[in-house]
Amino acid sequence: MSKNYRSELVGAFGCPIDENPTGVMEEAAFRAKGLDYRYLTIKVEKEDIETAMKAVKALNMRGINLTIPHKVSAIPYVDELSPEAQIIGAINIVVNTNGTLWGDNTDGKGFLKSLTDRGITVEGKNIVILGAGGAARAISVVCALQGAKHIDIVNGSIERGSELVQLLNEKTPADARLISWAGMVDIPAGTDILVNATSVGLYPHVDQKPNINYDTIQAGMVVCDVIFNDPNSLFLQEAEKREAVTVNGLGMLANQGALNFQLWTGQEAPVDVMIDTLREEFGS
Ligand code: NDP
Repeated sequence: MSKNYRSELVGAFGCPIDENPTGVMEEAAFRAKGLDYRYLTIKVEKEDIETAMKAVKALNMRGINLTIPHKVSAIPYVDELSPEAQIIGAINIVVNTNGTLWGDNTDGKGFLKSLTDRGITVEGKNIVILGAGGAARAISVVCALQGAKHIDIVNGSIERGSELVQLLNEKTPADARLISWAGMVDIPAGTDILVNATSVGLYPHVDQKPNINYDTIQAGMVVCDVIFNDPNSLFLQEAEKREAVTVNGLGMLANQGALNFQLWTGQEAPVDVMIDTLREEFGS
């Protein structure tokens, strides 16, 4: 009887990548499901993305995650894009099906799932998003496509902020507006959901928090952070003091990882195993 000694290969391309915990979470999920998959955490410099994407095909990898700085620059090397990835203009996952590379963006969908898991919906809601980078783009587009009524983008760089607002107004049904982030910003009255989608507070800068007027956070407002390390960010601690409903970045990370697992393996992901693995990893 012949044996199969070849594992299915997936992984991540990024730079920096050493501290990316996704591999631990995905490998725990593969083990829990008894799947012979390996997740490789691979350092790929900016200028090497073309070669690396060709390697996905050459090595017959099942797929790859893309992180900083490749989420946009990898797009020319995939054969097909999901509708969401086309609007967002960035991909974080590629699936290789018999040599055809398909790119999608699961960051926003993972975020949305972390809300729906808590019984929170975005339909008809007023949302404020701090930041206009990759995470903010993915989250705002998915919320807009899901029926959010109004989205305020708060950003320092006017150019980057305006570009995202224009994209939301032109390509989604939501109504979007830019709030310039020059000094301390008030969260507008009537905000239902506030999201920190900046990198402020990310380890090792755990003593930092976005420069907003925390006293404008209302009790009962849903306040979310994309920061997963430390999941108990200062931003969320301030929101908790104002009796907000808080959602940390671990759920988004685990849920986008679960979506990626499903896209690669065709199987339901063991989300609880993935969340527990992350909690263990971050000692939370
Ligand atoms: P980008 O570099 O694309 O964007 C960073 C954003 O943060 C920009 O809008 C930038 O503003 C803003 N920013 C940075 N520093 C400050 C500051 N001091 N004050 C105000 N705004 C600031 O990064 P990403 O969008 O890719 O990632 C953002 C964060 O999201 C990272 O910490 C990442 O780890 C996290 N993330 C979490 C995920 C999860 O699953 N939980 C998934 C993906 C990302 P400006 O345009 O003015 O420079």
